[in-house]
Amino acid sequence: MSEHVTVPKAELHCHIEGAAAPSLVARLADHYQIDVSAIIDGNGKYVWSDFTSFLETYDLASNVFKTPADYSLLSETYFRMLAAEGAIYGEVFISPDHAQSAGLSYASYVEGLAAGIERAKIDTGIEGRMIAIGVRHFGAAAVERVAREVIANPHPMVTGFGLAGDERDGHPANFARAFRMAGEAGLGLTAHAGEFGGPDSITAALDFLQVKRLGHGVRAIEEKDLIRRLVDEKIVLETCPGSNIALGVYSVLRFHPVNILRQEGVRITLNSDDPPFFGTTLGREYSSVSKTFGLSEADQIAITRTALEAAFCDEAARNRLMVRLDSAVTPAV
Ligand SMILES: [Zn+2]
Repeated sequence: MSEHVTVPKAELHCHIEGAAAPSLVARLADHYQIDVSAIIDGNGKYVWSDFTSFLETYDLASNVFKTPADYSLLSETYFRMLAAEGAIYGEVFISPDHAQSAGLSYASYVEGLAAGIERAKIDTGIEGRMIAIGVRHFGAAAVERVAREVIANPHPMVTGFGLAGDERDGHPANFARAFRMAGEAGLGLTAHAGEFGGPDSITAALDFLQVKRLGHGVRAIEEKDLIRRLVDEKIVLETCPGSNIALGVYSVLRFHPVNILRQEGVRITLNSDDPPFFGTTLGREYSSVSKTFGLSEADQIAITRTALEAAFCDEAARNRLMVRLDSAVTPAV
């Protein structure tokens, strides 16, 4: 077993359509007779060069998922892969807007994804939950529509609500009502901020969206008072260093602020975001960050513990996961 499998891991930030392996996309494309040669190269890797072409490739790849069975294959494949890297828990962002463009109802999209997660759990024990996301650049009305749909179709595995999309588009105040509705319905709340947007985007997300978790949030590093606020309010950052490097937010990992934030006392987790697009996996995030910044196994376990503490799951599941984490790290006598 390779070294990075031994640390139990947990993931809070991964877009399920962005987790689709090129081989799976190619297989479904073949089945539906969709030409994906422009987005998957001869080595079986996604082709993109900048943020715009990344989004185009992402959308084309997502288009091959059409039925609940396709989505269950997607989630089962991903959760099995996570478990193979030592993950005991994973949350994935699901996109009702993607389902709609595939001609699927929200309920059947969720059922498909849930069935795949359950199948992976039977064999591997990995626990999974879903976070429904609204797309910021579709506007406030579209995001509220997603919130209403999620609330009207409750599913035990859809436990969170979030905001993704272009974070330079639309002030968080525009989405305050959607987040209030989702929060009152008992959903956990998270929003992308402080990735492309600066510290102000983080402050606004905290002020208007009542979130205790932030997608990325790493640009808090640019403002000392904001770092203090994150520590004081125990905000958890879903950091995705490999994604930030791939998209040019930071040039190389050793200049990424994840470890300084950690040392300042900010609660950080490690995540893969859109793994095959960024040439990463959750296991690689743990191992590359640990190697670059000299994190011990105990440091990595503390990161997993933070993720489980911040997970959008019920307390019974959280307790079971904590027991698994503790038993995995207690050496057998
Ligand atoms: Zn993301």
